[in-house]
Amino acid sequence: MTAAAGTGGKGSLRPAVFLDRDGTINEQMGYINHLTRFHLLPGVGEAIRNLNAHGLPVVVVTNQSGLARGYFPESLLDQVHETMHRLLALDGAHVDGLYVCPHHPEAKEERFRLACTCRKPRPGLLEQAAADLNLDLRRSYVVGDRWSDVRCGAAVGATSILVLTGYGRGDAAFVGPSHPVQPAHVAEDLAAAVDWILARERLLGTADLASETR
Ligand SMILES: [Mg+2]
Ligand SMILES: [Zn+2]
Repeated sequence: MTAAAGTGGKGSLRPAVFLDRDGTINEQMGYINHLTRFHLLPGVGEAIRNLNAHGLPVVVVTNQSGLARGYFPESLLDQVHETMHRLLALDGAHVDGLYVCPHHPEAKEERFRLACTCRKPRPGLLEQAAADLNLDLRRSYVVGDRWSDVRCGAAVGATSILVLTGYGRGDAAFVGPSHPVQPAHVAEDLAAAVDWILARERLLGTADLASETR
């Protein structure tokens, strides 16, 4: 593992908010195999802008096994992410990092065919982001619509929040009740999850670090 480029001085680690993509940021449509299938969910831009304003790094972590399965090319994934960044920017919001797992054990393309350590619920994407951006995973949050997101957060000691958008309502009804790992909070959508995070950060006294040097 490589050390992140230091900013000089003390390596103070920051909490971050990790966001799942499909079903959390954009409407759950199965594979986003065409640009026309990428629709931001209501209130997402404002919610992310709210995190930006409080100085909490926002990192998108997403499994995209459609690449491994040959359902769409990397060029489409790039276009989808350009669209995501552009739509968020229209709302005055930005993400600080974007990490994608393109792998699957039964991938059509050999370069993507492996049992990797980054496909959620494995924590590889979070660990890479933490190394790159000096993040404290144990003080971070993971927000997603599937139990795999909840488990991913739990795997690194972060605080997990399930949103009821995307697959969330069904996972809450049919996966959650018998699962040993539970989220710290269940929120109607990303905006509600962000409100909960910011209230909790205020209690802990760690938010509003916007003036921190970069
Ligand atoms: Mg999802
Ligand atoms: Zn992977």
